[in-house]
Amino acid sequence: MTDQYDVLVVGGGPAGYPMAIRAAQLGFKTACIDAWLNKDNTPAFGGTCLNAGCIPSKALLESSELWHRTQHELGAHGISGSDFKIDIAKMQARKQTISKSLTGGIKQLFAANKVTGLEGFGKLLGDGKVEFTPHKGDKQVLSAKTIVVATGSDPVNLKIAPIDGENIVDSWGALDFTEVPQRLGIIGAGVIGVELGSVWSRLGAKTVILEALPTFLPMVDAQVAKEAQRQYAKQGLDIRMGAKVLNARNTGKAVELEYEVNGEKKSETFDKLIVAVGRRPNTRGLNAEGVGLALDERGFVKVDAHYKTNLPGVYAIGDVIGGAMLAHKAIEEGVALAEQLAGHHTQVNYKAIPSVIYTAPEVAWTGLSEEQAKAQGYEVKIGSGPFAANGRAKAMEAANGVIKVIADAKTDRILGVHMVGPYVSELLAEAVLGLEFAATCEDIALTMHGHPTLSENFHEAVLSVDGRAIHA
Ligand code: FAD
Repeated sequence: MTDQYDVLVVGGGPAGYPMAIRAAQLGFKTACIDAWLNKDNTPAFGGTCLNAGCIPSKALLESSELWHRTQHELGAHGISGSDFKIDIAKMQARKQTISKSLTGGIKQLFAANKVTGLEGFGKLLGDGKVEFTPHKGDKQVLSAKTIVVATGSDPVNLKIAPIDGENIVDSWGALDFTEVPQRLGIIGAGVIGVELGSVWSRLGAKTVILEALPTFLPMVDAQVAKEAQRQYAKQGLDIRMGAKVLNARNTGKAVELEYEVNGEKKSETFDKLIVAVGRRPNTRGLNAEGVGLALDERGFVKVDAHYKTNLPGVYAIGDVIGGAMLAHKAIEEGVALAEQLAGHHTQVNYKAIPSVIYTAPEVAWTGLSEEQAKAQGYEVKIGSGPFAANGRAKAMEAANGVIKVIADAKTDRILGVHMVGPYVSELLAEAVLGLEFAATCEDIALTMHGHPTLSENFHEAVLSVDGRAIHA
């Protein structure tokens, strides 16, 4: 039997669909199978990110932030009004429209690039074969020279707080609330917990986030994380650290939750509880064991530096191989693998991954924190740019937060940039570019930044590394 495809991608999320498009652009006969079904049973490419992650959460963050501003910021601009109302159904419909337009766009991109999009489930059969079960129709066996596993991840469930889809929900459920809960509990103060907490707290939910770890956002520079925590507290987010949840029970009307802090038992009652304790690799139904696909002890598909699994002709990319579980990391891996199959040299720079928490203020970072740099033996020099001294931030009524630059004292190279402040997700791109080009503080110091812009504050933070800041 001859191969039907050169490349067959199983999973059409941010790892799989760009991989398929780039592979087709490079001349490979490519198909992409994706099993996603939305709650209305409609199939959609785009995976978690477009259907139940990055995009819907950002749509709601934007809407809820606008609402928050009408309530808390307009007065400072001399604007007043009392007739603002929230229409959650409309907010949710807008979110849905955005997701649909993007997932529909993938189908168009597939058509334009001659990728065969297959809606249904893929199961590895070994020897270059995949069983494809379409959402509608009969099973078929497909064959390909190269098979790419891009099956992504799922939310981690807790036995002590079982998801019921009504009052105890995971992140997907939390994006679909039809009304604002009065009392909202969240287990987990990671990126997803804090973002979802912000959405519903801004809309009026009394929100409590319970986090078992003693340190808030341990992956972020401690000074920046502390400032973020202070800002969240000011907005009314009640984040309780060292809080170990013992059990949560849906009584039908509410959720009764017990937790422990420093050995002391406490309880809370919530209308809704979101479980946001992380994500785990999804290899369900893939037949990994049957074909001998090697997984690590946490269930991630094992790959080498070139995304090769232990099986000949089988590769894996994205959340399912672990590392930073982020859409852009998945995209880069997909594109890098396609280039690699075409014999091109590529490399994903895992030392310059942008990470963002899309709250207001936003938290964004790349590279090492001060603590990580010191632990790795660097002699560091530190700069910081407070937004309080930035003209654009003041004009925006958003002069909160700080940019912190961590540099190598010996070579002047920037090792990391961690920030909290207005739109730092956008400022982060310059810091990532700096790391990618191995920029020194001097390189950035000599780069002119527009005035008045938020990006000037990055310049100021870099200047302050050597005591040259003008405004702070
Ligand atoms: P996925 O997006 O999970 O896609 C995998 C696809 O494979 C799915 O469509 C699945 O149905 C399909 N699949 C699985 N098994 C099979 C099979 N056997 N056959 C066929 N298809 C199969 N990341 C960011 O970078 N920025 C953000 O702002 C951000 N926000 C997030 C917010 C939330 C609430 C959540 C939950 C996640 C967020 N993420 C964000 C993470 C991001 O969504 C993931 O890192 C990204 O989606 C991973 O892409 P992937 O392609 O590896 O996996």
